[in-house]
Amino acid sequence: MLPILDGRIRTIRGDIAPAALGPCDAHEHLFLVTPAQPGDEYADVYKAIEEARTLRTAGAKALVDWTPIGLGRDLDGLAAVSEATGLHIVAATGLHRDVHYAADDPVREETEDALAERFAFDLERCGIIKVGASYHTLAPFEAKAFAAAAAAHARVAVPVCVHTEHGTMGGAIVERLGELGVPAARVILAHVDRNPDAGEHAETAATGAWLQLDGPGRTKYWPDSTIVALIADLAERGHADRLLLGGDNGRRSMMRAYGGGPGLDYVFARFKPRLERELGTELSERIFVENPARAFAFVG
Ligand SMILES: [Zn+2]
Repeated sequence: MLPILDGRIRTIRGDIAPAALGPCDAHEHLFLVTPAQPGDEYADVYKAIEEARTLRTAGAKALVDWTPIGLGRDLDGLAAVSEATGLHIVAATGLHRDVHYAADDPVREETEDALAERFAFDLERCGIIKVGASYHTLAPFEAKAFAAAAAAHARVAVPVCVHTEHGTMGGAIVERLGELGVPAARVILAHVDRNPDAGEHAETAATGAWLQLDGPGRTKYWPDSTIVALIADLAERGHADRLLLGGDNGRRSMMRAYGGGPGLDYVFARFKPRLERELGTELSERIFVENPARAFAFVG
């Protein structure tokens, strides 16, 4: 049992106590439409329910949806999925990295203040603020989103959740957000396993930031054993309490409800049991239950 934890977690159907979150898939996309993935978009609520049911059946009680503004995000759709499946769903405000918005997308013209207002308004229903970085660099549009996210975070202290490109710039992102007033402990860095370098990520974890590994099932890029080994290495270095895990199924072709794979339940049905066999249930419980209850909670 989890001890009483501070704060609450903002789900799409209302705030819950952190201890009520349960086993959590920390990174998914139930809907996603982006010019960066032509032909791979998906936005059907009924298929999202079908897909999410498989995750629930595999043992998850919660998922965090990282689809931000302008990319097919459907907050009412997420509420419908939560209601139909019983999953707690945390939704995102914020923006993705530069490449996901068309050159003439009006969101590019919005001022930092206007974006901050928009993010803060969304935080009535959303429980994370997403921003994105490019490969080893921060585009001007992304830098503006970082500043707007920090301003919204100052009003509602939900975590700032960052897409890293191939796991690069973790330390620099934490530093940049720190300068903008977001403490490291409120920063979640996604996709760090795309750069399976435990030494580098251990330095980032030492700042207090969260490391999210979310690439199980991407067998054409690397085997799951790479991720298990990275988790073992980071735990060995003393950072098991900074780790989160998700599936990041962000393409139509990854969803079984649309005829693809490996499916939304891969992390719970396949990866988690393997992690438990190889590294033990205690570590798994920490990564899937205790850490998300802390990482996604806010006080205020
Ligand atoms: Zn994602």
